[in-house]
Amino acid sequence: MSISVNPLKFPANALEPFISAKTIGFHYGKHLQNYVNTANTLIKDSDLDKLSLIELVKQSSGAVFNNAAQAYNHQFYFDGLTPVKTEVPAALKDKIDQDFGSFDNFKNEFITKATGNFGSGWTWLVVDHASGKLAVKNTSNAGNPITDGDRILLTVDVWEHAYYLDYQNLRKSYVEKFLDHVDWNFVNSNLNA
Ligand code: MN
Repeated sequence: MSISVNPLKFPANALEPFISAKTIGFHYGKHLQNYVNTANTLIKDSDLDKLSLIELVKQSSGAVFNNAAQAYNHQFYFDGLTPVKTEVPAALKDKIDQDFGSFDNFKNEFITKATGNFGSGWTWLVVDHASGKLAVKNTSNAGNPITDGDRILLTVDVWEHAYYLDYQNLRKSYVEKFLDHVDWNFVNSNLNA
């Protein structure tokens, strides 16, 4: 069994001007595909070949983890995006208000942490495994909070390849616009999964 990722839910130009078709072409078409291909090459003819993508993220290490987690993280990132503005479902809105104080507080914390996530990595909205509360967490490189037992709801890719063609060094602008293109129904479904 080899791993694979779902096709994009929208055309490559559907997120413009937030993310250009050129960026989607490189990001989904080249970067993500390279992680998938590399992971498949590494697991071929090994016991890891029996594992699903999520199991690989939870159980592998080293180069297999790096490539499998990057495949998984990208799938999760693209699944969380939508060209059509969505409303935040009431149950999710209530939980965000309860755990962050307000929706604006959540947004500010997400933007601050994503902008300050040093180097290459991912910024996540999670349900913290210890407290059961929503939290914003940073991971580096291919890291994913599910390996700590957290439930993941949303992620933004802050590797430079995600935004550099469109925003150059202005990561904060990319993250701010990201929050206007989140599929909140996807986030809500992860809260209830
Ligand atoms: Mn990426």
